[in-house]
Amino acid sequence: MIISTKRGTPQNEIKKIIDGFEGQGLQVTLIRGEDYNVFGLVGDTTKLNEKQIAANPWVESVTRVSAPYKKANRLFHQEDSVISIAGDKVRIGGREKVAVIGGPCSVECESQVVQIAQAVKEAGGDMLRGGAYKPRTSPYAFQGLGTEGVLDMVKAREVTGLPIVSELMSEDRIDEFVEYVDLIQIGARNMQNFQLLKALGRINKPILLKRGLANTIEEWIMSAEYIMAGGNENVILCERGIRTFEPYTRNTLDLSVIPIIKEKTHLPIVIDPSHATGNYRYVEAMSLAAVAAGADGLIIEVHTDPEHAFSDGAQSLKPAKFRETIDKCRAVAAVVGRRL
Ligand code: PEP
Ligand code: MN
Repeated sequence: MIISTKRGTPQNEIKKIIDGFEGQGLQVTLIRGEDYNVFGLVGDTTKLNEKQIAANPWVESVTRVSAPYKKANRLFHQEDSVISIAGDKVRIGGREKVAVIGGPCSVECESQVVQIAQAVKEAGGDMLRGGAYKPRTSPYAFQGLGTEGVLDMVKAREVTGLPIVSELMSEDRIDEFVEYVDLIQIGARNMQNFQLLKALGRINKPILLKRGLANTIEEWIMSAEYIMAGGNENVILCERGIRTFEPYTRNTLDLSVIPIIKEKTHLPIVIDPSHATGNYRYVEAMSLAAVAAGADGLIIEVHTDPEHAFSDGAQSLKPAKFRETIDKCRAVAAVVGRRL
């Protein structure tokens, strides 16, 4: 619930209001504005009566907020959050630089990921992606190299200086990721693994939280809220396409989330055109559209030999195409007042 008080409300009246709600076990966040004071109430507001609160002559308005999230809510945090990665080597958010993350779906061996990392760097990428723990639909498909894959990513970082992003699938690997990975990806399939989300709230590494395959925007923001409520506010959202009835693409890229996320939250939003389309032919067009629509970053699968990739070759760009895509995106970024 959000309550604003009238211009010029005396301090003692503000205090009375705060004490009243705190006395009911609610947590009160006060945002002091130039003209109005705004209170955010966190806790069980179901028993409060809006009309009764509005009867206070100093109260300007009472709004029952349907949005159940607070930490991620732009209402309580008007500035865009800028997430600092790898000791501020890369920053995502803030509507200036658009960050580009490139790399293979899966880490296959050290030389593969080092070679791709070099290509990503040469093309102008800011970070390297690569999965070591893979959430595959089939138990017979390549499951990832595990720790070895993470260490291969570390090697690629040493060679290129690019910070690394990799997917964490379970709580038992958190220490490994805290030690080695710069940005921890939570994949679409784990978006509502609440136990995992709670554990991520207890660390302070940045998290790239992908939208679930069939989740609403509000459910997705609530998952970010889980991490933030635990104390880790370094969350970046990533749209990777949602399931619809359309088979021409692997998923349907929901680009409308960009303005919606910016309106509802202060968190950065990254677009993954690779998993969204499932087809390398459409990745460039969707990247350009994402930058034009205000995305804070792109995460694109890149492979030097897509035909033999262990996973997602069909949606991976070869380095030359990746570079061309970045160059075109840079031009679009300039048009919308951003850098890339
Ligand atoms: C991936 O990034 O390789 C991946 C598995 O993504 P998602 O969770 O979006 O399917
Ligand atoms: Mn993939």
